[in-house]
Amino acid sequence: MSNPDFASKVAIVTGGGSGIGEACAVLLAGRGAQVVIADRDLDAARRVAGEIGDSAAAFGIDVSDPAGCEAMVSRTLDTFGRLDVAVNNAGIGGQQALTGNFPLDNWEKVIAVNLSGVFFSMRAEIPAMLGEGGSIVNMASVLGSVGAVGSVAYVSAKHGVVGMTRTAALEYARQGIRINSVGPGFVETPMLPAGTARVRPWGSSRTPLGRRGTAHEVAELVAFLASDRASNITGSYHLVDGGYTAR
Ligand code: NAP
Repeated sequence: MSNPDFASKVAIVTGGGSGIGEACAVLLAGRGAQVVIADRDLDAARRVAGEIGDSAAAFGIDVSDPAGCEAMVSRTLDTFGRLDVAVNNAGIGGQQALTGNFPLDNWEKVIAVNLSGVFFSMRAEIPAMLGEGGSIVNMASVLGSVGAVGSVAYVSAKHGVVGMTRTAALEYARQGIRINSVGPGFVETPMLPAGTARVRPWGSSRTPLGRRGTAHEVAELVAFLASDRASNITGSYHLVDGGYTAR
């Protein structure tokens, strides 16, 4: 194995059945991890686990359900015996509407998955890491640091993920659990086409590098932060956005 950063380590990737989560699961497995792919789309999780092989397992969960997140960790411990790495990546895009007119039901849904889902995941994962230590990477967005017209729920959730990451990192640094967040710019995944036609031009015209990112480019950053190579990095927020927020 050329880069065995995760040999004998066990990782959970939420939303690992598609897009960025799939790329993270494949990269972590390729570097030696046993990987639990947890997704509400169980068929998608099974497809990715099947492509990885015996070192992967697929679980169907909804991260907006705290009991589901507890079950995800219990089943990980039952299956692989430990938990070293968690990539809390599951998320949804949300509708486009101005704040004064934003649909209440979509606000509740986006906050439940993109904000509470990360909290419920960490709340279940951290106790399983106490003692041995571990590394958590939470998926925020560039919209964890800048606003976007029409996306109040998504932007609020992603700013919240950055803040909860910093707080949990402070709380668990002395117990050897590092917790960081990642802020991708616009990335080619199945999430983007639905309801995001308005932002489609951003990939080329408003990103200094002149293109959208790839899921693999995000996964490379996630894998670095999750690994012992990032042993002095915690509580921080790392952009992978083609220079979008440098303007
Ligand atoms: P994606 O291709 O749609 O993948 C997300 C996966 O998460 C899907 O398999 C989805 O299942 C699953 N999921 C959604 N809600 C869930 C829930 N409640 N519980 C468990 N699984 C759930 O999206 P992506 O683009 O890879 O996005 C992954 C993360 O990156 C998200 O947090 C997103 O906000 C963030 N992000 C994406 C971009 C981008 O440009 N793509 C940019 C910045 C940040 P379903 O297919 O059933 O929904």
